[in-house]
Amino acid sequence: MQSILPLPTQPVKPGTSTGQVFWQADKAKTVDSYSPADGQLIARVHLSTRADYDRVVETAQAAFAEWRLVPAPRRGEIVRQMGEQFRRYKRELGTLVSYEMGKSLQEGLGEVQEIIDICDFAVGQSRQLYGLSMHSERPAHRMLEQWHPLGVVGIISAFNFPVAVWSWNAMLAWVCGDVCIWKPSEKTPLTALACQQIIGDVLRNNDVPEGVSCLVTGGREAGEWLARDPRIALVSATGSTRMGKAVAEAVASRLGKSLLELGGNNAIIVSEHADLDLAIPAIVFGAVGTAGQRCTSTRRIIVQESIYEDVKSRLKNAYAQLRIGSPLDESFHVGPVIDMATVAQYQAAVNEIREQGGRFVVEPGILDGLGFESGCYVRPCIAEAENSWPVVQRETFAPILYMLKYTTLEDAIRQQNNVPQGLSSSIFTLNMREAEQFLAATGSDCGIANVNIGTSGAEIGGAFGGEKETGGGRESGSDAWKAYMRRQTNTINYGTTMPLAQGIAFEL
Ligand code: NAD
Repeated sequence: MQSILPLPTQPVKPGTSTGQVFWQADKAKTVDSYSPADGQLIARVHLSTRADYDRVVETAQAAFAEWRLVPAPRRGEIVRQMGEQFRRYKRELGTLVSYEMGKSLQEGLGEVQEIIDICDFAVGQSRQLYGLSMHSERPAHRMLEQWHPLGVVGIISAFNFPVAVWSWNAMLAWVCGDVCIWKPSEKTPLTALACQQIIGDVLRNNDVPEGVSCLVTGGREAGEWLARDPRIALVSATGSTRMGKAVAEAVASRLGKSLLELGGNNAIIVSEHADLDLAIPAIVFGAVGTAGQRCTSTRRIIVQESIYEDVKSRLKNAYAQLRIGSPLDESFHVGPVIDMATVAQYQAAVNEIREQGGRFVVEPGILDGLGFESGCYVRPCIAEAENSWPVVQRETFAPILYMLKYTTLEDAIRQQNNVPQGLSSSIFTLNMREAEQFLAATGSDCGIANVNIGTSGAEIGGAFGGEKETGGGRESGSDAWKAYMRRQTNTINYGTTMPLAQGIAFEL
């Protein structure tokens, strides 16, 4: 493994980003980061204690008092400089993402590109934190609505997008005047530390107050500190539905704000009017990209019965060409899954599919031998199944694709919607009526609904997120910035009388 950022030889310490580290080294516990690519230990990262956490929150609160006074376009300029830093280190950080998380190098580079894109977006947004003006019903009164910074934002992120999800939240939160405490996945702590290091110079060179960007390491417990802490104005949590339910409950019990980005169970409807030359590559990338570990991975395809056999044989041919191996070697299409626990979940799902009577169109398997020493490489597989089976209804975070059949479009949409999750969906059809039916209020119930492109690979310009058990949150583009600010309605009387709203009479 070469040409990574200068990697630390000592355990790395979390804390705030500009050099002052809050750490009680004598009580240190560490988490070991292993690469699923080759099973090697990459780094040993210190875990934050509760005392470290409290000091980080206090520093963040003090930083917020100053940062919210910095004009938004000036905050945007600092985010612009961060974008430049990520451009500079794109190759190195993308390689580290690929090595620590296991996604292909192309996808690792793509993830860093997402950071760069959201930086650019946030810079523009910093001059567009628009409020509204309304006409008052009272004479000589003016009404308006404005947006103020919210406070300390806690960001809990998942392993599968170890850096991009943080940036979607942090870059917008910063231009909105908030400060951030990031709790990355315990499976990918090193990429988080690398991000802090990359932006450290920008923060220092601009005299940004210590505590605008903070990092807390740890697992579930550290996430719970954020969820339960009334000092955290917004908890933005990305991960499993199980985690999201726990966070939602903890935050709601203190009447805090949460933004939830949880699991998906994404389907592609393949109509008899589809251009299969578009559909097949989109299905294959959606199902096997990131070894099936994207929240938007394609998990189900719902195929019109008249083309079902044709789609099946084309997919079989396409899967036969897939090359599995090291994510850093660009000649391979599919890398490893994150860890052995995920391999076990893959195997459990495969067993369940067989018990239910499912038939494999492309056989599953766990790879061993030369190049697969980490034990984390599995074969992407396709199973013929029924939508109602429990294994199909839940998200297995691995490259397993279910093939389902439909007769009418209504039936296809019913199957597509009939799962607990509601993240991403798409239809392949050249028939305009079908496409519009899919996008109509009676069509897909997901946060993302696409036509003639797959379920995965969102651009940062749109609002990203989903309905039902996906959590309802929206991040990234469109007006997602509003989640990071507080709304204030103002009514100003510039007249000489005191009329009451609704014409209520009150005389002294
Ligand atoms: P996970 O739920 O195991 O962990 C996610 C994060 O939550 C980690 O940082 C973890 O330490 C923390 N955490 C776990 N339990 C917690 C608790 N009770 N309270 C507070 N924090 C807690 O998820 P994962 O395995 O890292 O990621 C895979 C999941 O994430 C999949 O379900 C995937 O669909 C989802 N995901 C969703 C999106 C989205 O935008 N909708 C994006 C990426 C991943």
